[in-house]
Amino acid sequence: MGSIDLYGESERNETGCNIPFNNALDPEEFRRQGHIVIDFLADYYQNVEKYPVLSQVEPGYLRKIFPESASNNHDSIENILKDVQDYIVPGLTHWQSPNYFAYFPSSGSIAGLLGEMLSTGFNVVGFNWMASPAATELEGMVMDWLGKLLNLPRCFLFAGGGGGVLHGTTCEAILCTLVASRDRMLSKIGRDKMDKLVVYGSDQTHCALLKATKIAGLDLKNFRTIKTSKLSNFGLSIESFRSTIAADLEAGHIPLFLCATVGTTVCTAVDPVGPLCRVAKEFAIWVHVDAAYAGSACICPEFQHFMDGIEGANSFSLNAHKWFFTTLDCCCLWVKEPKALIKALSTNPDYLNNKATDSNQVVDYKDWQICLSRRFRAMKLWLVLRMYGATKLRNFLRSHVKMAMKFEEFVSNDKRFELVVPRNFATVCFRISPLVGNDKMLKYDEEVIGDTEGVNKVNQMLLESINSTGQVYMTHGVIGGEYVLRFCVGATLTEDRHVSNAWKVVQVCADEILGLDS
Ligand SMILES: *Cc1c(COP(=O)(O)O)cnc(C)c1O
Repeated sequence: MGSIDLYGESERNETGCNIPFNNALDPEEFRRQGHIVIDFLADYYQNVEKYPVLSQVEPGYLRKIFPESASNNHDSIENILKDVQDYIVPGLTHWQSPNYFAYFPSSGSIAGLLGEMLSTGFNVVGFNWMASPAATELEGMVMDWLGKLLNLPRCFLFAGGGGGVLHGTTCEAILCTLVASRDRMLSKIGRDKMDKLVVYGSDQTHCALLKATKIAGLDLKNFRTIKTSKLSNFGLSIESFRSTIAADLEAGHIPLFLCATVGTTVCTAVDPVGPLCRVAKEFAIWVHVDAAYAGSACICPEFQHFMDGIEGANSFSLNAHKWFFTTLDCCCLWVKEPKALIKALSTNPDYLNNKATDSNQVVDYKDWQICLSRRFRAMKLWLVLRMYGATKLRNFLRSHVKMAMKFEEFVSNDKRFELVVPRNFATVCFRISPLVGNDKMLKYDEEVIGDTEGVNKVNQMLLESINSTGQVYMTHGVIGGEYVLRFCVGATLTEDRHVSNAWKVVQVCADEILGLDS
């Protein structure tokens, strides 16, 4: 081009030709490129089954491919998507694959994805009501909607004096409620007593509680990990909770906080919420109920008994991004006493002053969470609730439970295997049984001696062998010293045939390890 580019409206790319510089939010370009990305993702979902579920790349693979620094030149979405396909997709573990049975699911859905697009598209920052009234009001509304579906007592809903908020993750929900309980307690007994406060969980409680205790500045010597056992299916026993409290009081400590779990991370154990809350009440202990995974199932009446006694708790949370078809991140937290959260977490710089806040008629969610800025997460949860409706959502969840039952049946019909704990939801914990005998295990590995360690080792080999096929992905856990394989159904695309195939893979791998003659 002959003319001089006075206004910087064009720039030179690698090939030396000028490309018109579009505004970075040009609506027509957004339309064009947006369609390309949606097509790309639709193709990804169509083909997701063809990829090895667990990524097979080596550490550091990506730096070897891409340049060391960002370029001065611009590039097209077409070129970039080609690199995504060639270099990023192989480095993905395909959480949306129908053959994904690891950890807990990250259950995507059309509604969840489109809701995410809408909220990202608006890109508003709803720290207080004023900053985007719809974001705050929709959030309050969907939290009440979901609370009602879960049959939460009125005291957790806005109309009952409580209320719900969307955090990113359970880690944040636990930290915020812990801090609320800490400040509520310290305001009564004096801030100099901080080193006396005790936090309770079981040996199955998520490590989020320990992290929260550290961040909250509480004394780690006062962090109680109460032992559970197979006798109570790894649920926290009332007697152990009571005796631990008694010992603490004896030592001059002050009980503060219990994190009870409905659906623990390794084996989906359920702590007895009602009885634990009754004990906690005697000592004014704040009870948070963490139902990160299993809470979703509680929109089905047949699972609601797991939450019996929830009215005695102070707070309750579940991750809609785990098993509720809402994309990451979306942790739903309900509290009975929003004031306790607000007292601990509010800040009021002058530049945020506004009439709505002064009127005391609005919720300013910045005071219910760690950060100031916040995403419009309610949009995706609203789309999930609206587009599927409660009936369909229950059916989705029940179909996962049914598939898990089918897998459970496969396991129990094969004498080489055992179920380690009863299945409560859609997660099956199983392993090669110690009763299979040393001789079989010895065939595979001379070191194996058939004791707990030996059985664990064989099961670890089995899992590695299963995952190395790339056909399925499962993970493990250790409970009561036993290494177990976890089979968790919850990926949205999973159908019966995927579960049957997964069992075939397990059998082939077990045949290889134990010999075919069993
Ligand atoms: C997954 C899980 C968590 C952690 O969830 P984040 O949202 O990643 O913080 C906490 N508790 C339980 C029971 C879980 O299963």
